[in-house]
Amino acid sequence: MSKTAFFHDELCFWHTTGEHALVMPVGGWVQPPTGAGHAESPESKRRLKALMDVAGLTARLDHRSAPRATEEDLLRVHDPAYIKKFKEVSDAGGGDLGLFAPFGRGSYEIACLSAGLAKQAMADVLSGHNKNAYALSRPPGHHCLRDQSMGFCLLANIPIGIEAAKANHGIEKVAVVDWDVHHGNGTQAIFYSRADVLTISLHQESCFPPGSGLVSERGEGQGEGYNLNIPLLPGSGHEAYLYAMQRLVVPALRNYKPDLIVIASGLDASGVGPLARMLLHSDSYREMTQLMLEVAADVCGGRLVVIHEGGYAEACVPFCGLALIETLSGERTEVEDPFLGLIKAQQPNERFDAFHKQLLDEMAQSYGL
Ligand code: ZN
Repeated sequence: MSKTAFFHDELCFWHTTGEHALVMPVGGWVQPPTGAGHAESPESKRRLKALMDVAGLTARLDHRSAPRATEEDLLRVHDPAYIKKFKEVSDAGGGDLGLFAPFGRGSYEIACLSAGLAKQAMADVLSGHNKNAYALSRPPGHHCLRDQSMGFCLLANIPIGIEAAKANHGIEKVAVVDWDVHHGNGTQAIFYSRADVLTISLHQESCFPPGSGLVSERGEGQGEGYNLNIPLLPGSGHEAYLYAMQRLVVPALRNYKPDLIVIASGLDASGVGPLARMLLHSDSYREMTQLMLEVAADVCGGRLVVIHEGGYAEACVPFCGLALIETLSGERTEVEDPFLGLIKAQQPNERFDAFHKQLLDEMAQSYGL
């Protein structure tokens, strides 16, 4: 049996987002930080990799880096003028091309590497080299549009990987399940008028981008019906997420029967995440991953690829990520998540969950599920 692939490259951690307090540029009334500063710092990702190392998990995986995505790969998805501008500003020392996506010198090449890890993860699962794969991509990708950076995302890692997979591996249908706590608006926009990529996003309602990710956004033209948004109420915990997965995501995937399932895996819906108000814990990511493994086994020969997106709680993200990768690989370590009891004790009450399940039932009916 082939192993789970784990794609990681230290250079991805060298992408800099400059001097910020959480997401606000320093200056005026915003005091320069003494610590990591910007929310999208390498720390949560580096600590995930470190925990995997000390727990002995990395050694049990097929752990590799990958080549950068090429210009040809990028241009299957992005507007040439955007790519040219991004490279110019990166070469000149960095900047921000808009909508909360600052970067430094050399971030262009690092973003190409981040997309390259996603591309290789998909390629190696499709070729049968690995049973499934995880790419610790940074910078993330799911907010990035064809011609516009957004929300810490500089290149659309998952669409770049999917288009390369379609060009090189002859697959027809791909499903993307985005459980980052923010709306996967970039992936949605890129595939909005296409039926060959089903895009599903679970997210905190109207969190980021504000007003984005409504139930009414169903796709257009040939893509109508192939985009599914599942906005969840702030304060959603384990029950609401698992119910949404079972009631909406799993049936949608079984109906669609993709050749490959890709998860846009933000770990920022945790109970201590600073950029949203949700209450997931490591067992939530463990169980959601298990569900996706079961669906993938049934519909696409187990071909499941997980691409890292957000996740900003430096202390907690490593335990959520470890639980996910343990499940993906079937390799349980001795690590026990010290946050688990704390976040489990803060779950919403039964009345909230019952009300929320009713909303999700209505949503499922509106989607014909
Ligand atoms: Zn996010």
